[in-house]
Amino acid sequence: MTINLVTGGTGFLGSNLIEHLIKKNQKVICLDNNITGNINNLKKWKNDKRLEIIEHDIVDPIFIKADRIWHLACPASPKIYKLDPIKTAKTSFLGTLNMLELAEKLNIKIFHASTSEIYGNPREHPQQESYWGSVNPIGIRACYNESKRISETLCFDFKRMFNTNIRIARIFNTYGPKMDQDDGRVISNFIVQALKSKPLKVYGNGNQTRSFCYVKDLIIGINKLMESNYYAPINLGNPEEFTINQIAKMIRDMTNPELEVLYEPLSLENDDPERRMPDIKLAKKILDWKPTISIKDGLSKTINWFRKNIDFE
Ligand code: NAD
Ligand code: UDP
Repeated sequence: MTINLVTGGTGFLGSNLIEHLIKKNQKVICLDNNITGNINNLKKWKNDKRLEIIEHDIVDPIFIKADRIWHLACPASPKIYKLDPIKTAKTSFLGTLNMLELAEKLNIKIFHASTSEIYGNPREHPQQESYWGSVNPIGIRACYNESKRISETLCFDFKRMFNTNIRIARIFNTYGPKMDQDDGRVISNFIVQALKSKPLKVYGNGNQTRSFCYVKDLIIGINKLMESNYYAPINLGNPEEFTINQIAKMIRDMTNPELEVLYEPLSLENDDPERRMPDIKLAKKILDWKPTISIKDGLSKTINWFRKNIDFE
């Protein structure tokens, strides 16, 4: 039975990945300090021998025997990662270093969850993997995007020095069941606001764009990547681009068309990227992967999930 070590396993993507691996009847060791993750995301397998949960801060080295590593531990929401930027940078850099050292020691494959944030506020659109990005190294998002950039560097230096078997996905905005309702990302915020009959809060003028991938599609993509022989970074995301205003309107129409949409100022200091959309030609060619779930279907599934799981207190 394959033993998967999943860091960040109680979080949004990690718990969806663990569900996928257990369904394939594989064993999972989840490593998480639960800073943004929620153990309830894994409660279904509480007494299942295929899942072991270890509470651990990834900043500190650890030795665990496994057949492969899925390294996802790192806060991902701007609202959260900006709260303690030094800890975010340490988690991202030292966490990746510790997991690469473990992969090298055990001679096993390691998947690293990188991000579209490494492209910063992109000057090229859509973003191809060959684009080096436009990142403000001293801005308030730098603790996340710069530490994710150095994490990719570390992966490549391990590959060059020790031939470590790396896989790197540049993940674009993903949404779906098991997102934390207070995590601050736009889709969870809008859905929770709508279900609580509160106005939707758009930051800035709402003309900034993002491309949103439903979590099931993403999990299939990262599994295909893990099984492939491709070690260079690859974009995984949905290439359909929407303004935040369009997303607000869709969620309002699907929940409560009477809802007000409010605008909150967004200062330049936020370094909020103006637009983002993946070029996924490489993923189509190398992995034979593309998203299959439309934004309408994905939002509808996510709204249904939040309806059942939201804390209305
Ligand atoms: P999340 O916040 O839900 O999950 C992150 C997990 O990492 C949580 O369970 C958290 O408790 C854990 N963690 C954080 N710091 C830790 C530490 N020091 N030690 C151990 N565990 C720690 O976020 P997510 O959306 O599931 O993101 C998972 C990964 O995917 C992250 O690395 C993120 O950068 C990347 N990613 C996500 C998206 C997205 O849209 N969801 C996009 C791009 C990249
Ligand atoms: N956003 C918004 N209202 C919210 C949360 C986010 O208008 O309640 C905007 C945010 O300013 C950004 C976009 O939505 O332009 C996506 O934000 P998110 O935090 O989800 O992801 P990221 O900025 O990392 O892409």
